[in-house]
Amino acid sequence: MKPVAIIGAGITGLTAAFCLKRKGIPVTVYEAGNRAGGVIQSFRKQGYLAECGPNTILETSPKIAQLVRDAGLESRRLFSDPKAGARYVVRYRRPIAMPGSPFGFFTTKLFTIKAKLAVLREPFVPRRRDGQEESIAEFVRRRLNQEFLDHAIDALVAGVYAGDPYQLSVQQAFPKLARLEARYGSLIRGQIFGARARRRSGEVVKDRAPKFSFDEGLQVLPDILATQLGAAVKLNTAALKLTRTADGWRVTTTGSAAEFGAAIFCGTAPRLAELKMEGIPPAQSLSRPTGEGGPFDLTPFSEIRYPPVASVVLGFRRDQVTHPCEGFGMLIPKIEGFKILGTIFSSSLFPNRAPAGHLTLTSYVGGERYPDLALLPPDQVIELTCADLGALLGVKGKPVFQHCVLYPRAIPQYNLGYGRFREQMNDLEQRAPGFFLAGHYRDGVSLGDTIVSGVNISERVAEFLATLNG
Ligand SMILES: Cc1cc2nc3c(=O)[nH]c(=O)nc-3n(C[C@H](O)[C@H](O)[C@H](O)COP(=O)(O)OP(=O)(O)OC[C@H]3O[C@@H](n4cnc5c(N)ncnc54)[C@H](O)[C@@H]3O)c2cc1C
Repeated sequence: MKPVAIIGAGITGLTAAFCLKRKGIPVTVYEAGNRAGGVIQSFRKQGYLAECGPNTILETSPKIAQLVRDAGLESRRLFSDPKAGARYVVRYRRPIAMPGSPFGFFTTKLFTIKAKLAVLREPFVPRRRDGQEESIAEFVRRRLNQEFLDHAIDALVAGVYAGDPYQLSVQQAFPKLARLEARYGSLIRGQIFGARARRRSGEVVKDRAPKFSFDEGLQVLPDILATQLGAAVKLNTAALKLTRTADGWRVTTTGSAAEFGAAIFCGTAPRLAELKMEGIPPAQSLSRPTGEGGPFDLTPFSEIRYPPVASVVLGFRRDQVTHPCEGFGMLIPKIEGFKILGTIFSSSLFPNRAPAGHLTLTSYVGGERYPDLALLPPDQVIELTCADLGALLGVKGKPVFQHCVLYPRAIPQYNLGYGRFREQMNDLEQRAPGFFLAGHYRDGVSLGDTIVSGVNISERVAEFLATLNG
């Protein structure tokens, strides 16, 4: 079996490589950076476990649990404390627990009576039939109301994409919501009647999916996958050029070049835009034999927006914080006037995240809401975070532990018009047989989505190689 090149050792690339290796297909993983894991970054210091990037994996698909099993990590997996289910949304400048039941919804102080009536009316709002793409803001205003957008969805969108609801496309960024409307005519009817279909497919809706991490943080997963892949993972080796050859692909890296039967790009969209590709026929001459093709222009992918996000992990003594900080964390809508996007109560989620008598709070700054704030010097980012935590959670004094990491290009924005990038990706794969694209810029931005993307791409690549072998 010809080997497969995998570009990028984030969770997508490592998952794809691990699954291909288990199928007996040799792999080489090229990683531009000096470590495996991509945006996943956990480390332990002064008794704190800091998760700088993602904090939890939502087990939305059986493929995720299967990967954990296959990697031999079941005994190290930690499901979040069931008590930590509570989520807070800031309103009237204080965190208010989100309702966990229909009864709770009608009694919560989070929404006015007007918003509650909008929910009762939602099943009767006619579905949109003109097939036009819509922003999540337009969608929510049409089906619910402005208050729902300003006080709930805006915060949720900041929590998932660090994004702007007026720019994110409901069809591209929240396709399940768009499908619920198209299929059931209503989000509420869809929630009720879609349950049976979800049970059949084994899929779990995000707000009910179990959340997990590992004893030493999420970094455990990429570390174990990379260890099992061994010398196949080449760190500090950026893929620069891909050339279509008579029987596969030549990958040119910073150090050398090697031949493969197939190649998978699991990096980021800006890095895809920088890649040189040669030997691909232009669109109008698909029938031309390999070799006659010219360079393929990947630069349009540089237009995919990735706003900067700073992640701020702070440790405090318990007596420095008035709020119990029990639960998942708090989301903050823009309208409330704070600078941070939200905070995860990290030490309430999993054990051993902070020394006894202390707690860890992980906050995010920047995104599409305030990109410039993420780019401030770390001391200033920490200072503005402490000011907001002081007002919202009653945090007093200086943190006993602090760590700030900037992700200059954090999360791709599936904004209005993103469909054209997905079409270009499909087109590229069709015109470059044996070249595949997977990961957060194509198949969804959550860790669960990227793991599923890695598993699925390994299956597509194995099928492709099998057809080559006759
Ligand atoms: C701050 C932050 C918090 C998040 N929180 C959560 C969360 O709590 N839960 C959740 O589900 N999701 C979360 N996410 C999203 C999730 O973590 C990511 O979508 C996912 O980890 C992306 O994985 P990936 O492998 O597709 O990409 P990446 O992690 O970006 O990895 C891509 C890798 O490819 C390498 N690369 C790129 N180009 C090349 C090249 N030419 N040659 C060689 N190597 C290359 C890069 O160096 C990088 O290591 C968060 C993301 C961020 C940034």
